[in-house]
Amino acid sequence: MKYYVLFGPPGAGKGTHAGALAQKYNLKHLSTGELLRAEIAAGSPLGIQARDLIAAGNLVPDEVVEGMIEAAFDSIKDVDGFLLDGFPRTLPQAEALDRITAARNSEVTGVISIMIPDEEVFRRIARRAEIEGRADDASQATIAHRIETYHAQTEPLIEYYRNAGKYHEVNGYPGTIEEVRERVLTMVESI
Ligand code: ATP
Ligand code: MG
Repeated sequence: MKYYVLFGPPGAGKGTHAGALAQKYNLKHLSTGELLRAEIAAGSPLGIQARDLIAAGNLVPDEVVEGMIEAAFDSIKDVDGFLLDGFPRTLPQAEALDRITAARNSEVTGVISIMIPDEEVFRRIARRAEIEGRADDASQATIAHRIETYHAQTEPLIEYYRNAGKYHEVNGYPGTIEEVRERVLTMVESI
């Protein structure tokens, strides 16, 4: 099984490019953000726990997302691997992913990082707010807080995966969606 990680700040285009990658390599796309939004929509206990944290631009507890990922690995069989989008987001999550994949006699295959500057994060999320109506996209302050959270908690993973020889970065800006998709596909081809 392959275990690819799509990495990048909020609004980098992880979800936008995941489809083409998943299709080309027969991977199951797992977005922790989408899984959490589904739990919220369903009104499950997990969704109720996550709702206010997400709306405030905070991360949900590591154990919650780790459990969701492990459950998905356990239940999904008919694919050549997984494309993780939005996970891991903290060092403990990255260490958990190493344990979870090792228990499956495997490891993270590669991390594809889509980089965009903070100003572009603001622009894109403000635009997305009008289209998707997500609570965590709604205010400037929440967006700013998510960017801070990214720098403080998620960015250290770059060094973690660089040290493991697994870090591969493409520019998510400037460029059209098609241009960025081509960069992502070319990068994965080279791994
Ligand atoms: P993108 O637009 O690139 O998909 P995003 O940051 O806008 O990224 P999601 O990945 O959908 O949005 O995540 C939305 C929210 O869900 C996060 O801000 C966080 O509160 C929660 N979340 C998602 N993944 C995790 C995770 N791995 N650990 C903790 N919280 C998470
Ligand atoms: Mg997403």
